[in-house]
Amino acid sequence: MAQDPWLLTPGPLTTSLTVKQAMLHDWGSRDAGFIAINDRMRAQLVGLIGGEGVFTSVPMQGSGTFAVEAMIGTFIGANEKLLILINGAYGKRMEKICAVARRACTTLEWAEDMPVDPALVKVALQRDPAITHVAIVHCETTSGILNPIAEVAEVVAAAGKRLLIDAMSAFGAIELDSRKIPCDAVAASSNKCIEGVPGLGFVLCRIEALQKTQGNAHALVLDLFDQWQVIEKTRQYRFTPPIHCIVAFDQALAEHAAEGGVAGRGGRYRNNCRILVEGMRRLGFETLLPEKLQAPIIVTFHMPADPNFQFQLFYDKLRERNFVIYPGKLTVADSFRIGCIGRLGETEMTAFLDAVAAVLKEMNVASGAPARKAAE
Ligand SMILES: *Cc1c(COP(=O)(O)O)cnc(C)c1O
Repeated sequence: MAQDPWLLTPGPLTTSLTVKQAMLHDWGSRDAGFIAINDRMRAQLVGLIGGEGVFTSVPMQGSGTFAVEAMIGTFIGANEKLLILINGAYGKRMEKICAVARRACTTLEWAEDMPVDPALVKVALQRDPAITHVAIVHCETTSGILNPIAEVAEVVAAAGKRLLIDAMSAFGAIELDSRKIPCDAVAASSNKCIEGVPGLGFVLCRIEALQKTQGNAHALVLDLFDQWQVIEKTRQYRFTPPIHCIVAFDQALAEHAAEGGVAGRGGRYRNNCRILVEGMRRLGFETLLPEKLQAPIIVTFHMPADPNFQFQLFYDKLRERNFVIYPGKLTVADSFRIGCIGRLGETEMTAFLDAVAAVLKEMNVASGAPARKAAE
């Protein structure tokens, strides 16, 4: 079988052979074997945030956005109000979810290359006492920026408000300990840093908070309270679960644990990120973000200034060499992105850099350097 392309993307991403092989079976949704796998998966996810006994894991069929929408629709009641901290497309998406679900919300916005500022969050909470909840994206995949989640959580807790986290692209690779970071809910999905296949979102919910959400949800399928109650009582899903995805996810969680959990997985990604950034800089490319703001998840590079550089051609030629990269999503700068996550290591990152060098040569591009800013 030909080697699948290496996905240097923020998910779906490259998965291990064993994760793919886990799907080569059929299960009934009431099968005892599947039920045991589902129970184990739920318990392991709670363990990843140190939430044993305090949090419960509510799986949600669908991609990550289904989990985020379920989180907002379930946790924000009709008379409550959400403050959304936005520095990229995923924060914006939460604002859109509030509009569709008719939830009261207000926003604070930063440029895509700026982290959320906890001091401004504090001021916003003082100014608007109607706010009951705050939502933040842990790693904004739009740019790859890491938001100061601990500092924001502290400000939110001090103001007596509740925190909801879209941890999607960081979950399992960047520590998020619920004993240190007070929050009510953490949403993520199967196909990012845990390295499963797409199809399952999940929300880790503080039990004491989830218990108060009955009747809040704006959609039957996205009701985390109901999903939780039914799974707890019957160990069954209300609607067909993505069984193959869950079984593969269980295998991916076992591989995550074998790699040393969050520390081990994060360590490999940090190494991938370092190799990538160093290698691309040698070729003249420049990152959008300075080191201290960069999460080891996905890296945004400025578009090269060389007139021979055409992104589509660059993309296609890398694809011919079996590497898939990601277009940019920024409004602040013309850019493209390269992921560090998935079943990739030093060998693949180095081979990727060799491919980039070869493609630049073919395109007759001398350097990946972007245009100089006028002030420089
Ligand atoms: C991937 C991602 C999501 C979910 O996207 P889906 O396409 O619905 O899986 C949400 N938030 C962030 C920060 C993400 O990276």
